[in-house]
Amino acid sequence: MSERKTIYLCLAHMSEEGWEQKYVKEAFDTNWVVPMGPNVNAFEQSLADFVNHNDNANDNLDRKVVCLSAGTAAVHLALIACGVKAGDEVLVQSYTFCASSHPITYLGAKPVFVGSEKDTWNMDPVLLEKAILDRKAKTGKYPKAIVPVALYGMPYQIDKIMAIAEKYGIPVIEDAAEGMGSRFNGQVLGTFGKYGVLSFNGNKMITTSGGGALICRTPEDANEIMWYATQARDAYPYYQHTAIGYNYRMSNVCAGIGRGQMKVLDAHIAHHKHVQALYEELLKDVPGVHIHKQPADPRYDANFWLCAATLDPEVRIQGQENAYKEVIKTAVGGAAGVIHQVDSATTDCQPNENVEALRVFMLGKKIEARPTWKPMHKQPVYAGAPVYTNGIEEELFKVGFCLPAGPYVSDDDVRYIVESIKEAIER
Ligand SMILES: *Cc1c(COP(=O)(O)O)cnc(C)c1O
Repeated sequence: MSERKTIYLCLAHMSEEGWEQKYVKEAFDTNWVVPMGPNVNAFEQSLADFVNHNDNANDNLDRKVVCLSAGTAAVHLALIACGVKAGDEVLVQSYTFCASSHPITYLGAKPVFVGSEKDTWNMDPVLLEKAILDRKAKTGKYPKAIVPVALYGMPYQIDKIMAIAEKYGIPVIEDAAEGMGSRFNGQVLGTFGKYGVLSFNGNKMITTSGGGALICRTPEDANEIMWYATQARDAYPYYQHTAIGYNYRMSNVCAGIGRGQMKVLDAHIAHHKHVQALYEELLKDVPGVHIHKQPADPRYDANFWLCAATLDPEVRIQGQENAYKEVIKTAVGGAAGVIHQVDSATTDCQPNENVEALRVFMLGKKIEARPTWKPMHKQPVYAGAPVYTNGIEEELFKVGFCLPAGPYVSDDDVRYIVESIKEAIER
């Protein structure tokens, strides 16, 4: 076992045929090394074809897709297009990665966090309506947008969320960054709301090295997004601006990677589902460990971007007595960029000691297991932000962890991962 390679959570995986390099080369050969061009157009068309196809319907949707430099940029521009301005409130799922909520603060607006329900781990429609009514009572205004998140690819209760959103006339921005290709009732996530966010970061379902896209309802909406993404210019011979724009368009080089990745997207989704099924099978008889399954309701069709599980508090893990004893020197997962050093090993809201011990044990086995996203309303940077919760996401954060699920994870890897979990449990 000494020669085992580390099994990462989810790694970029290029097509066997090398389509990505072919399209990137084409960008160079034709000198389209700019943030527009044939690859961008073709990638957008291919994405639109993908998201518009409904498994359960004869008539396709007609959504437009605008490629951008990041999923975070897509969230940002969707908020702007929904008219979010300084001082406005936006309802956002608390149990998520920071890219769902940070763009709200970029605009000087205020995130209002909504807790999760336990079936999908996503935005609880009951809490959503409660929050809408309470914000109206407290501020005299309805929030400007609703941002549900497909956590680890799991579809949110979009039928209920859309019904509430329509009842109060509030636009929905679906954060489907992790849920690319997940479906609800045959329809692709990101096509229910006014806007849908996709991400092509290095660890998502497909990658452009870094990038994102916004799914739009109409050609007019897509035009508006493209205008904001290219510095909001008016038609004069010189630069004339009537609004603040952004430099958020996708590079034609990156779009070449995306074009190639579209050829393997279906295979990636099938593989993620296969890995999830294998975890479900192999973890069935491991007491105290519960894989996060999708609801039995056949309308749910998750991509299982990451496989998540929970560990019962009473399960003892080898090395648990040492959990959180040392200050960590690098970001979990070795994330790129600069990480601020910290001087404490613990915070007031963190995974249980057995979950931390399991992470460390698995790392010793060359397996990356990671805590679930820490709820945003528990982040120091959002201290004081309003939150409507039943405490479910906080509870899940204490017991939850993510397991490797990408295209590189083989059946043998899954067996090894499950065996390692069993070995970690003290008996
Ligand atoms: C990855 C991600 C995004 C977008 O991130 P980018 O890295 O900017 O592409 C947005 N929301 C969630 C929940 C994500 O996981």
